[in-house]
Amino acid sequence: LVSRENHVSRTVVSVAGVPIGGENMTLIAGPCAVETPEQTLEAALMARAAGASLLRGGAYKPRTSPYAFQGLGEAGLKILADVRGETGLPIVTEVVDAADVELVASYADMLQIGTRNMQNFALLQAAGEAGRPVMLKRGMNATIEEWLMAAEYIAQRGNLDIVLCERGIRTFEKATRNTLDISAVPVAQKLSHLPVIVDPSHSGGKRDLVLPLSRAAIAVGADGIIVDVHPTPETALCDGPQALVGDDLAELADVVATLPGML
Ligand code: PEP
Repeated sequence: LVSRENHVSRTVVSVAGVPIGGENMTLIAGPCAVETPEQTLEAALMARAAGASLLRGGAYKPRTSPYAFQGLGEAGLKILADVRGETGLPIVTEVVDAADVELVASYADMLQIGTRNMQNFALLQAAGEAGRPVMLKRGMNATIEEWLMAAEYIAQRGNLDIVLCERGIRTFEKATRNTLDISAVPVAQKLSHLPVIVDPSHSGGKRDLVLPLSRAAIAVGADGIIVDVHPTPETALCDGPQALVGDDLAELADVVATLPGML
């Protein structure tokens, strides 16, 4: 179902009217985690000023340590919905448990399935039935074929509004948090009709890598990028070191507005 075979044209996924795929280069930006109404609104305004047309933000956070901030849950979803009302930006937010899909889908414009859950088949199937577009991140240990098979689980439930997101894979290299597999973009686009976007924040794990990796993603033909922004990264409860702030946003706006036209 997600294979390029039998699909003459590439799929354009509409997220509350915002297109991902086709001729578009869609910027999704926002805080890694929803922390407070003020922080989320400020991050959303930063994202919008940088040219983002969708707001990201996690209310359910899949953390490596059980002692780390796990997200605000439904209270976070309510904050996201309020911020959508104030900014007009549709919401992309992660769901980590099949039992929460219905609730998250009642707030979200797009469901995000994270790297750690790429092969949580019950979650994929529930997301496929939720009536919302789904962003499927590549498992950090998954091959491209396994990633596409995971997408197939969603598609099998009648939902072809799927966006693939390359977010870096585990390699021997320790200088970056994960290794951004830039070649996955053209490979997945050749094998599948689905749009493919890149997360330069979670792959590099460092603020100063986000803009270079964003340029690389656009240059290789990604259909969009998803980046973390935070008004005060030094106080962030999750992934502050990779969040863009201040002047980075102006540069991001410039990259997104001008680079696609130069290629
Ligand atoms: C995220 O985008 O908030 C996230 C946790 O990403 P990943 O699943 O790629 O680690």
